[in-house]
Amino acid sequence: MCVGQILPRPADVGRCAIQQGLQPEPGTYVLWLRLDKATRLAVGGLGVVALQPGHYAYVGSAFGPGGVRARLGRHFRCEKKARWHIDYLRSLCRVEAAWVCYRRRCEHQWADLLSGWTGARVPVAHFGSSDCRCPAHLVVFAKPPSIRAFIDRDGYRGAHSIVAEIIV
Ligand SMILES: [Zn+2]
Repeated sequence: MCVGQILPRPADVGRCAIQQGLQPEPGTYVLWLRLDKATRLAVGGLGVVALQPGHYAYVGSAFGPGGVRARLGRHFRCEKKARWHIDYLRSLCRVEAAWVCYRRRCEHQWADLLSGWTGARVPVAHFGSSDCRCPAHLVVFAKPPSIRAFIDRDGYRGAHSIVAEIIV
């Protein structure tokens, strides 16, 4: 079963509280970021990009040590040396939520699903997709889809899989 698990908003919105909801397991995730102001930003090899305010969905996977917990913990921190495209954008945004599916590698499928969503837009070609054929792994929405609608559309019903929404 692919279960949507809505976690309550923690009273203490500290990084530790958020990370306690995450497992050190491999998996795929969507990091939801809110950008409040239009901005121009230098993003590594992509050069300077123009970004409009909105809800940004970044799709990635974490199959290294510490799994999704370690990777999202890194994304939650603002202060760090930029390594991936998303690191440049992250520093200008608030983290809104994270969607996680453990033990399943589906980042390209999810990037495709989100970029084809009604009202979705790919703001920067090749953002986060230097190593694959996807148009981008970053999608922006004026109004983001609900996790329920996303799970329905995804249609995955594999064993040992939980999609968790961690609302920051
Ligand atoms: Zn891809």
